[in-house]
Amino acid sequence: MSRGVKKFLQSAVIIVVVVILLCGIYSIAKRLTGTSSTAAFSTGNKEEQAAEATTETPVDNSIPMTELTVTAPEPTIRVGDTMQLAISYEPQDATNTALKWTCSEEGLVEVSEDGVLTPSEDSAKNTVEVTAEATDGSGLSVTFTLRIFEEIDPSRPMVAITMDDGPYPETTEQILDVFEEYYAKATFFCLGQNTEYYPETVQREYNLGMEVGTHTYSHVQLTKLGSSELEDEIKKSVKALKKAIGVKPSLMRPPYGSVNSEVLEAVGDQGLCCVNWSLDTEDWKTKNADATYSMVMTATDGDVVLLHDIHDYNIEAVQRFVPDLIEAGYQLVTVSEMYEARGETLDPGTIHYRTDPTTEASSETEAADSEDGAETTTSSDAEDSSSAEDTAE
Ligand code: ZN
Repeated sequence: MSRGVKKFLQSAVIIVVVVILLCGIYSIAKRLTGTSSTAAFSTGNKEEQAAEATTETPVDNSIPMTELTVTAPEPTIRVGDTMQLAISYEPQDATNTALKWTCSEEGLVEVSEDGVLTPSEDSAKNTVEVTAEATDGSGLSVTFTLRIFEEIDPSRPMVAITMDDGPYPETTEQILDVFEEYYAKATFFCLGQNTEYYPETVQREYNLGMEVGTHTYSHVQLTKLGSSELEDEIKKSVKALKKAIGVKPSLMRPPYGSVNSEVLEAVGDQGLCCVNWSLDTEDWKTKNADATYSMVMTATDGDVVLLHDIHDYNIEAVQRFVPDLIEAGYQLVTVSEMYEARGETLDPGTIHYRTDPTTEASSETEAADSEDGAETTTSSDAEDSSSAEDTAE
């Protein structure tokens, strides 16, 4: 053997010995820690350890879901709000009912395990698809559309644009296009008979986040009706809306703004609150976009603005005033949103005209005013009769 080979063998033996020693130390240490965990088992942690083991094994999917339903209470939401989704599945004893939630625009919407949806702070002015997927391998999934609006800031000015006498698709649809584009809202007071003709237009109003109220069934002056006709006009209009959008209205605009104590009582009996207006654009009289636009732009914080969505000249007016009001700092909200933001109530059987910009208005005072609000009733008489003629055309 040469010297070199001898040295090499000596080094190899040393390495082998060191490795054996290290292995020995390691196995002793392992045995020591093993002893302590065995002790833990014997002191009653057996169940806990067993449970941990179960969660690590694959989920039991032995009874898969055969049906999954997810229902959002409304098609739109505002940042700052949350919504409880209704989730149901079949069969009731499905083993794994956990869902995986995704949003078409990543991160804009979050859904908790118990189905509470929350839009993220930067999600406003987006329309997203939210999907719930079963995780039990059944392949079931549900997708729904959600329009997300900006949070209302009560300290900033707002107005409620209202549209009467529709729906009339030729004009209403183009007016809706504008509100859709700017993520702005309005309130549409629909006639029951028009709703029966064009339910899909009312459905679109609702889907875009508009508030849908009733303007009676056939545009009659309610103060001229006997009690059973009065009840019938209101009931039939509510039924038509419920059939079109699946939701009962909570607001009514009486034709010609005409109310008395009998009307308010009958309206209240149907769970409705009357809302007239504080700014009349007189669009039916001036019949041109410039005049309507100029009138709307005189609105101040808290105004309820009256227009009609059955006139073609109002399409251009809406195309101009919606962006310009937003530019001027106004929030375009529904009637109910404006009252809620200002801490005012809309109780059944009462009548309202506008909210107080200083937020402390009392609805009782307004209701008392309304009963002798002869001025409003007279001026609106002419207006709404003209609208009625247009509708009949
Ligand atoms: Zn009308």
